[in-house]
Amino acid sequence: MTKLFELVAKHVQQLVPYASARRLFKAADQDGQAPLWLNANESPYTSGYTVNCDVFNRYPDCQPTALLQAYADYTNLSPDNILVSRGADEGIELLIRTFCNAPQDKILICPPTYGMYAISAETANIGITSVPLTAELALDVTAICAAEQDIKLVFICSPNNPTGNLMSPADILSVVQHYQDKALVVLDEAYIEFTPQATQQALLNDYPHVVILRTLSKAFSLAGLRCGFTLAHADVIASLLKVIAPYPISAPVAQIVQQALTPAGLQTMRTRVSEINQAKQQMVAQLQTFPSVSIVGGQSGNYILFRTPRAAQLMQALVVEKIFIRDQSKQLQLSNCLRITIGSSAENARLMTAMSRFFEE
Ligand SMILES: *Cc1c(COP(=O)(O)O)cnc(C)c1O
Repeated sequence: MTKLFELVAKHVQQLVPYASARRLFKAADQDGQAPLWLNANESPYTSGYTVNCDVFNRYPDCQPTALLQAYADYTNLSPDNILVSRGADEGIELLIRTFCNAPQDKILICPPTYGMYAISAETANIGITSVPLTAELALDVTAICAAEQDIKLVFICSPNNPTGNLMSPADILSVVQHYQDKALVVLDEAYIEFTPQATQQALLNDYPHVVILRTLSKAFSLAGLRCGFTLAHADVIASLLKVIAPYPISAPVAQIVQQALTPAGLQTMRTRVSEINQAKQQMVAQLQTFPSVSIVGGQSGNYILFRTPRAAQLMQALVVEKIFIRDQSKQLQLSNCLRITIGSSAENARLMTAMSRFFEE
């Protein structure tokens, strides 16, 4: 290690880089059998888009007007209530950087849950209060409300990643009401298109401290584009706009997103969602036929979480076949749990064949 390391900010020196699904198995792309990526909740589908290169000599708008309007139409909100960012991940980071004073303020998270809330807090030198989900994977409302000291942001993920269950609307409402005038309550709805009736978007009408996160990475099959949305009161959006980079959305991204949000684009998304939801039910049934496999949580996203005492061996056996699912066994309450992203029918079949072979041995 060079002396340069000592120049790194103190709180950053201690950090470990996020082990993204991509980074973990990067080498697999190189030779032989095609790798099967079912570990990052990506979509198996792709679409064609057109790009107009004649505008690339100019900087894009910070918040491209037509893009915002298209998402406003999709959500029935005003563009004033929407921020578009480089993935929902950037929305998480902006919320922390905009609302938290380092180092005394804290965010509240409910593990097992999405990893980026904690990572974004750590990189900003912001503290984290963890209030674990109950044994039933529900919000521990009493503990969440009791933890209010120094909390600026409460993150609730529903459908929750990686457990796939929805949080009870009554519990969410209790948390929202408790934290009114105290902190923002951020509802991460990255997977809501797979269970659209569960959206809590209506809370935006009554509670200016409620924030909703959305993304095009999952149901819209555009993870590679990096585009997400923060839905909130106009004053929250105005504050985030003070902190966001001047040109976060590149021109080709803005053009492609508009095409994805046309009526035809939305129809395509909904068709794909229903195919994935069907394949998911089918896979749940198949998984239940394996000895010692139990399904964990719910299936409100595009993924399935399950437990088997042979989780480590199964991961190994799949890696040998270049099939990559996500090991969640290090997460609180999720010992021996693995998460499968639903792929195309051919991909799902390849995984099920490999798993059948493993459980027959
Ligand atoms: C994938 C995911 C995100 C981030 O999505 P991007 O828009 O790709 O940054 C946010 N929250 C949850 C729960 C996710 O699973």
